[in-house]
Amino acid sequence: MPSDSTCIFCKIINKEIPADILYEDAHYLCFLDIHPISPGHALVIPKNHSRDILDAAPKDREGLLAVVAKVAPAILKGVHATAFNIGINTGKPAGQVVFHTHIHIIPRQDEDGLKSWDAHKIGIKELQLIRAGISPHL
Ligand code: 5GP
Ligand code: ZN
Repeated sequence: MPSDSTCIFCKIINKEIPADILYEDAHYLCFLDIHPISPGHALVIPKNHSRDILDAAPKDREGLLAVVAKVAPAILKGVHATAFNIGINTGKPAGQVVFHTHIHIIPRQDEDGLKSWDAHKIGIKELQLIRAGISPHL
């Protein structure tokens, strides 16, 4: 199983450093984030080391959501939350600081004061231009 001895999440997988583990199976681990955005904020990771979701082997990437679906209802019950966001920061400008593939599960409450995405208005022409720039690459 690929592991990176300098990676903090690989160290958690290998039990070299402690974590509050919520779920573990042969291929995945879910544990509480040490700096939570909200109570119950958890991370789901594949045990195989990869830098990010694009670098991950398809089978490692594909199983992540199944683990989210398994643990999220228990997290919500455990912290009395009514909703959650999932987040995948990919690359430094997107806020990724740990370069081992992971999904954030962030429990949410009514009126919890947390901001969601900062969206802004955009014109139809601008949308079309952006689409034209992306489409040739698919
Ligand atoms: P990123 O910003 O890379 O998407 O998220 C990495 C997350 O890992 C951060 O929310 C951070 O709080 C969490 N984190 C970093 N180091 C540790 C650690 O040693 N233990 C735990 N449990 N979480 C960590
Ligand atoms: Zn790693």
